[in-house]
Amino acid sequence: MSTVVLCHMDCCNADGDRLPAARVLAQSVDQGANVSYAPCCETHSANWWDGSDWDGRHLDKPLMDVPKLEDYVASHGFGDVTQDGIQLAQILIARGDDYATAAAEVTARGFTEAPEELTD
Ligand SMILES: [Zn+2]
Repeated sequence: MSTVVLCHMDCCNADGDRLPAARVLAQSVDQGANVSYAPCCETHSANWWDGSDWDGRHLDKPLMDVPKLEDYVASHGFGDVTQDGIQLAQILIARGDDYATAAAEVTARGFTEAPEELTD
């Protein structure tokens, strides 16, 4: 499926893969006169503004709200969503499905990590 938006950067993880984008970030080389947008994974978005000489943080927007998706998944008793799951959810949400539907699909296909052990 080619509708998945991948991170604009390379090497999103230790294996050198490009991961599905989670946020769309603004960039500008002329202090905001001309702004372009780049999709980025969670990791790259986290340090996107480090060392930037222009702050376009207010233009930053989520492509998909991963924590919101994970909340729905967690409410079904599952752990963190895998990259395959995030990719699938991104497609579903881009098509207009809601988070509950996307989360149900992700769990049905087993795209989740084992839930953390409950200790008492
Ligand atoms: Zn990345």
